[in-house]
Amino acid sequence: MKKLNRRHFLFCSAAYLGSAATAKAFWPLAITKSAVSATGDIRGKVFKGDAPKKMWEWSHEGFLYKKLENNKVRCDICPNRCKLSPGDRSVCRSKVNMDGILYTLTYGNPCSVNIDPIEKKPLFHFKPRTKAFSIATAGCNFRCLNCQNWEISQAKPHEVRHRELYPADVIDAVLRYDTPSIAYTYSEPITFFEYMIDTARLARENGVHNLLISNGYINRKPLLELCKVLDGANVNLKSLSDDIYRKLNGGRLQPVLNTFKTLHEQGVHFEMTNLVVPGYVDDEDMVKKMCQWILENLGPNYPLHFLRFFPKYKLDRLPPTPLSTLIRFRQLAMDEGIRYVYVGNASYREGNNTYCHNCKKLLIERLGYIIPTYDLDGERCKYCRTVIPGRWT
Ligand code: SF4
Repeated sequence: MKKLNRRHFLFCSAAYLGSAATAKAFWPLAITKSAVSATGDIRGKVFKGDAPKKMWEWSHEGFLYKKLENNKVRCDICPNRCKLSPGDRSVCRSKVNMDGILYTLTYGNPCSVNIDPIEKKPLFHFKPRTKAFSIATAGCNFRCLNCQNWEISQAKPHEVRHRELYPADVIDAVLRYDTPSIAYTYSEPITFFEYMIDTARLARENGVHNLLISNGYINRKPLLELCKVLDGANVNLKSLSDDIYRKLNGGRLQPVLNTFKTLHEQGVHFEMTNLVVPGYVDDEDMVKKMCQWILENLGPNYPLHFLRFFPKYKLDRLPPTPLSTLIRFRQLAMDEGIRYVYVGNASYREGNNTYCHNCKKLLIERLGYIIPTYDLDGERCKYCRTVIPGRWT
């Protein structure tokens, strides 16, 4: 082991003590339920009279909206069903009513464009080792206190840096970079439904896969349209409590559960993500109930990821999720009968690997986004020939 000299030792000690002091000052030792319940319903409201005076290049008439009396409109994409008078802006900040017509302001102007490993989404049972061309525009239909991407999700389209990339340009770029999938991700793709579905239809015609990374807060009709061109999804199941959905996320539980049922019924491969937020979503009974709901309604085969929370946005004074909690939840979910349960945002090797649910042998070893071991033969376990759920080839 490398020896520390005196100066280095003093520097490290000071840094350690400093961080410990910060931890004490900012992170309460115990997070009480009463502290949590003090937060009210944070569901978003429409922004009255906040629409821009003029349309811009990336305005496009909305899909699936209804014209009402007095030039009002109602967007029917998500359960918020924003009712907008002329000049109003939607809850998700990306739609406006201009003279009785609903416009999206995010058609072809993504604020984030990256090529990511598919494992980052996370999608562990969908074409491992491939890349996804990932796009997002500004806006979200939720108000999560812990949002990791609040700079773009809680912004209006003109407040973020963006670039012009219409659906045909996205496909050109995808083919040029030879990425097999497009991921609609980072902020909330449901709020840029029009841009997403036009791009997804074009992608399907060109043999490119479509992946939705989402909070699942969408109405059935647009979801059914999307399912026609969707190849995979990762949808957050933030908790199994409507109360927590209202107070932590600014949404409702039931529409998200409906989304899971629809994806299941339509045969779309999906994985579920649960961010374990201390004091909000770290209740063992709730996790048990969540697993039971999954088993009863969706079966044991859809992968479930428990993600580690890190202090962010309005919850920057909470501690990160203890690793022991994540390990306990993984075991609990597997004991309940869910076959593939992972731990994310944490260095815990067993929780990143895929083991055959039948013979328990290691099939896929993951070191971050690197996969040193891959022992699937097509869609089967190489050892016992059991079919492993997912889209592998
Ligand atoms: S997608 Fe946006 S505009 Fe449409 S209902 Fe949802 S929050 Fe409102």
